[in-house]
Amino acid sequence: MSLGRTIVGLLGPDIPAHLREDFTMLTAHHMRGQARLLFAGFILSLPMAVYGASPGAGPLVAYGLPLVIFALCTLGLVVLHDPARYEESNADARKAIGLVWQLCLATATIGSIWCIASWASAPVETRIYYPAIMSLGALTLGYCLTAARGVGLSVLLVTLGPAAVVLASTGEPMNLVLGISMVLAIGFQVTMMKRHQSLLLNLVEERYNSARLARRDPLTGLSNRRALMERFEDLAARERRVRLMVVDIDRFKAINDRYGHDVGDEVLRAFAQLVQIHARGGICAARLGGEEFALLAPVEALDSAIALQLLVEIRGAYMPHGEPITASIGVAEGDIAGAADWTALYGRADRALYRAKNEGRNRVMASGETQQPPEQCGELEAMRA
Ligand code: GH3
Ligand code: MG
Ligand code: MG
Repeated sequence: MSLGRTIVGLLGPDIPAHLREDFTMLTAHHMRGQARLLFAGFILSLPMAVYGASPGAGPLVAYGLPLVIFALCTLGLVVLHDPARYEESNADARKAIGLVWQLCLATATIGSIWCIASWASAPVETRIYYPAIMSLGALTLGYCLTAARGVGLSVLLVTLGPAAVVLASTGEPMNLVLGISMVLAIGFQVTMMKRHQSLLLNLVEERYNSARLARRDPLTGLSNRRALMERFEDLAARERRVRLMVVDIDRFKAINDRYGHDVGDEVLRAFAQLVQIHARGGICAARLGGEEFALLAPVEALDSAIALQLLVEIRGAYMPHGEPITASIGVAEGDIAGAADWTALYGRADRALYRAKNEGRNRVMASGETQQPPEQCGELEAMRA
């Protein structure tokens, strides 16, 4: 197992594949806010680093290193300024997390060099200040970076690790106490990061599940009208020519009246399975409500012959109440360029369906390509049982 994976494993739960994208987006969102605060805080604390550097450490440590930190933090603030760089796509979010990681590691490494160089060159009685200052900076860093797996821990190790080792190596009991305290602080922070990761994952999982549920029809498990509308808007955004089939069970009320509502529900579930079979290759199958279903896709994906095929499948299917059923289908197609085009397209499919019902049910009727009154709808084919 690589060191990276070990670190990631230490920090929290494995992220299931279906949640990874959402988790990355949320992490990038949190990191943006936290890292900006962090960089601003470091810039504000730089005068103290300049003032407090050990005179014996030389100008590179006293001025050069704080200047580099200033440059890194300013770069971070500039890059993180624009949320669009993070929140548009998953690839951008991953890139941004990697960039913040690099900037924080570089800042942490320079801070660590500043601490150890100052510590080594300072008079013995003031040496202890440097690891103490470093600890505060490092713990702030670690706390601010809890949102990103690996970033917080690696930064903590780079900042506090060398300082703890240097302190322990002196053999002085109080230095040892401070060194051990640093190691304990790292352990505590890691535990907190792990908890934070679990909470974040729970949040992502809840959001994922509620988004999924909001798009499912609870009775049949098919996509619901909301999911169908989203698919429509998605296709409209790409200005596609689409085909819509509205499928309505014939005389369904009679099934309810004769066998009861529960059996009616069973029939709806069985019917939904027949419709669902066609939900492949970009075809969205949904329950619009009641005993009305729909298939929607770009015209090239949803061949008009599918409507006839579905009618045959419905007629031949075994139904829970033990009798065959039939359905009527209204088909419409058209170019769509916006969500508002739904009303016109659905209206045409619905009028075609109305014609199919009026003509005796158990058939497919197709609307003309442009908006037409119902009487102009052409019959694709009549199929009588
Ligand atoms: P048509 O051939 O003209 O479509 O006749 P129909 O009886 O299928 O249509 P109608 O609109 O008259 O009746 C639809 C029935 O569907 C009425 C309603 O009680 C029933 N229904 C709607 N939603 C549900 C449901 O979730 N479960 C059950 N069991 N019945 C439902
Ligand atoms: Mg009906
Ligand atoms: Mg109906």
